[in-house]
Amino acid sequence: PVRVRFAPSPTGHLHIGGARTALYNYLIARKTGGQFILRIEDTDRKRYVAGAEEEIIQGLRWLGLEWDEGPDKGGPYAPYRQSQRKEIYQQYAQQLIEEGKAYYCFCSPQRLEAVRQEQLSRKESPRYNGTCRRLEPGEAKARAMAGEPYVIRFKTPQEGTTTVTDLLRGEITVENRVLDDYILVKSDGLALYHLAAAVDDHLMKITHVIRGSEWLPTFPLHGLIHRAFGWQEPVWVHLSVFLKPSGKGKMSKRESAELIKDGYSIFIKDLQGLGYLPEAVVNWIALMGWSYDDHTEFFTMADLIEKFSLERLNPAPAAINFTKFDHFNGLHIRHLPIEELAKRVKPFLVEKGYSVSDETLLKVTPLIQERLHTLDEAPEIAGFFFVEDVQPVPEELLVKDLSVKQSYELAERILAILKELPDMQVSTTEPPMRQLVEETGLKPAQVFGLIRVAVTGQKVSPPLFESMEIIGKNTVIKRMEKAVV
Ligand code: GLU
Repeated sequence: PVRVRFAPSPTGHLHIGGARTALYNYLIARKTGGQFILRIEDTDRKRYVAGAEEEIIQGLRWLGLEWDEGPDKGGPYAPYRQSQRKEIYQQYAQQLIEEGKAYYCFCSPQRLEAVRQEQLSRKESPRYNGTCRRLEPGEAKARAMAGEPYVIRFKTPQEGTTTVTDLLRGEITVENRVLDDYILVKSDGLALYHLAAAVDDHLMKITHVIRGSEWLPTFPLHGLIHRAFGWQEPVWVHLSVFLKPSGKGKMSKRESAELIKDGYSIFIKDLQGLGYLPEAVVNWIALMGWSYDDHTEFFTMADLIEKFSLERLNPAPAAINFTKFDHFNGLHIRHLPIEELAKRVKPFLVEKGYSVSDETLLKVTPLIQERLHTLDEAPEIAGFFFVEDVQPVPEELLVKDLSVKQSYELAERILAILKELPDMQVSTTEPPMRQLVEETGLKPAQVFGLIRVAVTGQKVSPPLFESMEIIGKNTVIKRMEKAVV
């Protein structure tokens, strides 16, 4: 069975790149009836950010990417947090030392830095110079046992080549002499990513490693570690990188942070508050690096589970396109059942101080469904349904191409007609108002525009007569009267 994992390091916010990695892993697991595992890779205590794990968990849940095994729910290969697996990695590192495939290194940071500087001055790419690789193993072990500080390094082959295979890129071959003797276990006894991930992927029976392409440079090392243990390698898949909207390079930290000013973000935690639906996020990121064919663009999670395949992943870099994001959000807003959309819109109205009756909201929602791109636009478009009074801008009550007096008289006529009507049903209000347009020879926009500003307080609104029906006769008359004085 397919077993895949999302293995984030809790070092910052979950962003769309990480979310996409999680999504693809989730999809292939659900599609094949396999398992999706969440593993927290927190061995690097220096980069650890408090709260990051919770944020990742919340973000994944919001997106609907539920895992089968993970730190919060356990599973057959628990624990799923690497900081709780320290002894396991040490045991495997020991195994490599005993088999002559890894070694203790006692070089001090100062010494290593001196070597590095010297190599840089000779324009060589810095790598470990092998001093401790040449130590006699018995002697090295005795020094380690005696308490001398050490790291454990991988004994990378020095000759020949290493070939690893990426599902999307095919074979990748490197000269072994360019590979470093990477550190597997640091002086604090904690394993580094390279060893920890290999051991866990093996023990947790991971069949496919689907991850970001920032791991391509150390990919040969990861292959070598699996081979050193004699383990079968997983299928390796390195995903495309995301570029900034211009397509020129990766987005910097500062650029990412500044997006929020334009109502966008690449951080999952921000997207709900900005009025995006998780369905739209999923649809949008799914298509940044994968396609079903050359035209289908609307996908629900169920569609994706049915249609997703690793073969159609595209390793070419993808530029982040926020216009597309808004477009998908609109599509998914229109796809939601009314009750569901009302439920999701409500917090945005409440947050702006409107007292929202569910009954009214259910009537309003169909009127705004077509108009919303993001949920946070709802208060601006539909706030007038949930207040006692509106405050039209006086100048906006003046009808285009009419004098002040004529505008005033028109408002009076409208008011008089509306007062006589038994109710504000569309079928009751629309015919006499159209008749008024006929009689006066004015344009519909002139007459309806005046009513709109008076009743909704705004120049643009959902369909006028439908809106008046929801607002009801008392309030419509009250608002019209205010506009006449
Ligand atoms: N912990 C690594 C990261 O956060 C995971 C890489 C992988 O999926 O193997 O990027």
